[in-house]
Amino acid sequence: MGFKKKLRNIILGQPQKMVVTMHKRPDGDALGSALAFGKVLAQFGHDVKVVSPTAYPVFLGWMPGIEEVVVAETTNKKELTAMIEQATTIFCLDFAEYHRLGIIADEVRNASATKMVIDHHPLVEHMISDGDQLFCLPEVPATAMILYDLLVDMGMEKAIDEDMATCLYVGVVSDTGFFVHKNVNANAHLIAAKLMNRGLNVHNVHYQLTSNTPLYRLYFIAHAIAHRLVVLPEQHLAYFAIPRSDIKKFKLKTGDTGGLISYALNIENIYVAGLLTEQKNSVHISLRSLGNLPMNKLSEAHFNGGGHMNAAGGIAFTTLEAVGKKLEQVARDLLQQYAVF
Ligand code: 5GP
Ligand code: MN
Repeated sequence: MGFKKKLRNIILGQPQKMVVTMHKRPDGDALGSALAFGKVLAQFGHDVKVVSPTAYPVFLGWMPGIEEVVVAETTNKKELTAMIEQATTIFCLDFAEYHRLGIIADEVRNASATKMVIDHHPLVEHMISDGDQLFCLPEVPATAMILYDLLVDMGMEKAIDEDMATCLYVGVVSDTGFFVHKNVNANAHLIAAKLMNRGLNVHNVHYQLTSNTPLYRLYFIAHAIAHRLVVLPEQHLAYFAIPRSDIKKFKLKTGDTGGLISYALNIENIYVAGLLTEQKNSVHISLRSLGNLPMNKLSEAHFNGGGHMNAAGGIAFTTLEAVGKKLEQVARDLLQQYAVF
């Protein structure tokens, strides 16, 4: 049975316990997809828990339904285990690699539930071997768009209410950079228009996402640009190296460094941008590029991660300085290997 048919049977079948989960450090696409889809499933009578492995960005705290998201890292372990073990279907949205589930990776991997994976990252590790349960379209800019099209294909467009439309739209704008990244296509705009017909208030979403920045975040951005930005014009590389002390000094909350990386990529002649954020025992790495420089390959090869051509993430278990030097070296090699445009 193909994926769509199976999905339709599950949604329209006997009400069951379900978990809808997403990758750790969720972004607007992961959260928007999970919240919207969770609500669709609930509408069809299922008992749904939306689970995020880690805290979600504070700047997405206004999203409809977010108060019901179960944050695994701050939830009682027994409760969490019961939730995952009792579910008969687990939906995995916006990722297809177990390691991206962080602290719930093993529990989900070992769960007896049917796992339905819907994603748009180029596949590195096949999360499940049965192709019927994996629906991955790397050419689609956002998982939220895949979900929207699936709902339409299944004749469920009318189930989309204002809240779901808002969540799906957050997914579309997050992953297309408000319709400007290289991945944007006509369907992204068409879906946005269709979501407006389902009640989406575009202005309100943009107000929440861009006109509501707390002042401390602005001061942090100013400080980072003035003191934490390394620019190597000959190498077409610019990156921020943010020490943990900055996180504490500016009292940054989850997701508050999001968006900073675009300041590095926006510099003239810069084709590769990095954001290195020092954690307790590791360094989190975000990578962005222009043109044909594959950040996912770079991250897979050197930073234990992956992602898309122009946006990828990873992690390193060494010092901030060492990661910076490593990035300088591997970015230099990459530029010799690939033509940017
Ligand atoms: P970010 O820099 O925002 O953390 O990640 C950029 C993009 O890369 C996002 O689409 C994110 O889902 C993806 N990404 C981050 N880390 C990984 C990883 O370890 N594996 C894969 N496949 N994708 C990742
Ligand atoms: Mn995504």
